[in-house]
Amino acid sequence: MQESPLAKDTASMRQAVIRGPKTFEVEVVPRPALQSGAELLLRTAACGICSGDLMEWYLERKVNTVLGHEVVGYADEVGPDLEHVKPGQLVFVHHHAPCMECRYCRAGDPVHCASWRRSKLDPGGMAEYIRVPAINARQDSFAIDDLTPEVGALIEPLACSVKALARLGERVPAHAVVVGCGVMGLLNIAAAKAAGSSEVWAVEPDAERREYARRFGAERVFTPWELEDETRKQGFEGADYVIVGPGSPEVIVQSLGYVRNGGTVVLFTPTPSVPTALDFCDLYFREISLVPSYSCGPQDTRRAYELLRTGAVDVSPLITHRFPIDEIQRAYNTAKSGGDVLKVLVVFGDGSA
Ligand SMILES: [Zn+2]
Ligand SMILES: [Zn+2]
Repeated sequence: MQESPLAKDTASMRQAVIRGPKTFEVEVVPRPALQSGAELLLRTAACGICSGDLMEWYLERKVNTVLGHEVVGYADEVGPDLEHVKPGQLVFVHHHAPCMECRYCRAGDPVHCASWRRSKLDPGGMAEYIRVPAINARQDSFAIDDLTPEVGALIEPLACSVKALARLGERVPAHAVVVGCGVMGLLNIAAAKAAGSSEVWAVEPDAERREYARRFGAERVFTPWELEDETRKQGFEGADYVIVGPGSPEVIVQSLGYVRNGGTVVLFTPTPSVPTALDFCDLYFREISLVPSYSCGPQDTRRAYELLRTGAVDVSPLITHRFPIDEIQRAYNTAKSGGDVLKVLVVFGDGSA
């Protein structure tokens, strides 16, 4: 009996390529090969669809590439110069890796390091095999044998929330408002609780997502109009800090009304390239700090791993949908549909080592 040539072909793999802002295609290509003794070849186990990877203006720039940066896989080949990963181990790897030596890295701003910006996985997480270049393998990869691949795929998104909290400085204040309760908002709630905030309020128009916000530890949940009413009540002072999820100028401006004088508003998502009108006089006299938080670095991914490993944050309720790579188009369409869809994962093989 003849088997299909693909099944026996150990030199090829499937990868999902973006062909247009809404179109994905699976193609069969040669597997990447290690280019030095300090590299790693992963057999992909799971890759999450990032909410950032659903913004059309972003996807337009990414046509003909392989997306996917929330990824974990089994070490298939380990270069002889790498000691911290053993063949067969489940490994987390970050898409970007800083040099840890330049002025940005030394100042604790690794996402502004030239190496961080230049580095990337080959070809990306939505592929059956991934070549991990030396800098990514060295600076931001580690074994995660005590996690399942599905939970491991949430390390990167949780690390973005961990970083947003870290941007507030040493002592995280008590009272937070988290605006938007998609996956990232829910992770922001969990990270705020884990960082020590005692009173977290969540704002979200969708009723189901507000329920999730409660499950993730929010003390009070509001629709945007309910919180608007709350802010008009006598004696309302506002929260110590607000984390704004949606990349919407209107929501950002509205969120400035939720923070107390002297407080901080964390901008968690970019707005499309349109200017947002802000009242700087109001910001000045109220001494409001606007703190953007973009992506995450090696410190944040390790902290996120700790939170997951110790059970301080349970991300399993967030994983609502799983697809094989052949159904990549359905996976993205589902991720875009919102409502009860939270984290969509592409899972590879049977998920086992
Ligand atoms: Zn992401
Ligand atoms: Zn650097």
